[in-house]
Amino acid sequence: MRKLFIDIGGTHLRSELIDETESFSEICSSKEVPLMAYVEEKLARYDDIGFVGIAYAGQVHEGVILSAPNIAVDEPQIKKTVAERYGVRLEIDNDLNCALLAEANEWNVQNMAALYVGTGIGAAVMEKGKVIRGSRNLAFEIGHIPYRQTPFTCGCGRNNCIELFASGSGIAKQLYPYNENRRIDLSMLSRSQIENERRVAEEFETALVHAAGTLVTLANPELIVLGGGIIEHNPYLLERLREKIASYALGASLERLRIERSRLENAPLSGAKLLEKEETWNH
Ligand SMILES: [Zn+2]
Repeated sequence: MRKLFIDIGGTHLRSELIDETESFSEICSSKEVPLMAYVEEKLARYDDIGFVGIAYAGQVHEGVILSAPNIAVDEPQIKKTVAERYGVRLEIDNDLNCALLAEANEWNVQNMAALYVGTGIGAAVMEKGKVIRGSRNLAFEIGHIPYRQTPFTCGCGRNNCIELFASGSGIAKQLYPYNENRRIDLSMLSRSQIENERRVAEEFETALVHAAGTLVTLANPELIVLGGGIIEHNPYLLERLREKIASYALGASLERLRIERSRLENAPLSGAKLLEKEETWNH
């Protein structure tokens, strides 16, 4: 039996097709290939696929895609449709929840949080080995806590989210409105001759510590794992966060806290592989 695992974001769709002996990886543009069409193409080509696990950069609840600010949705009822048409079990979860599953496995910690900063900023929290989901699987959407008014619009439609400061898309909106795909080097920005660039870099750091401190105060994790593209390309942020977090979180909740950087190459995809074993919360 083969298994298909997918990590889909606003730019890329990464997949792995695995059987007992082999594994094939593929990457394509998620703007060109819609998710359902991709899954159906694979199911038609390989009739022995028995499980599909998907890490999704959007809001997902009970196998239904609720919203996706950066991905075109060709079939919201993807789990039900695949079960009906092909008789195949498909599990889909938010990519941050998937990353958290993979990080918990990697660090072997049961009370922890994942804080990922890439295009957006997102968090997921686990208590006693269970992901805290809320009533519609939307718990700990830290990127959308109100922070400060801006002239820009967040993916969620409001203009005061912390994501507009502490994320790649936020920096891009403030600095590169016509070229959002630039790789962001924060240490370079913070040394820039242009005052606006230095300001944006400084505000990014403050907003990031604010988000991390809020997460610690609300969720009281034992470990926070930082990940995502912006953290990967700016590894010094780990030290900066360790230095500054005391001013942004409740003292008592910092006592046993560790902050680390992700060691995984693609945590959401690794987490998609764990969805098959995840408690069947959405059945
Ligand atoms: Zn928002």
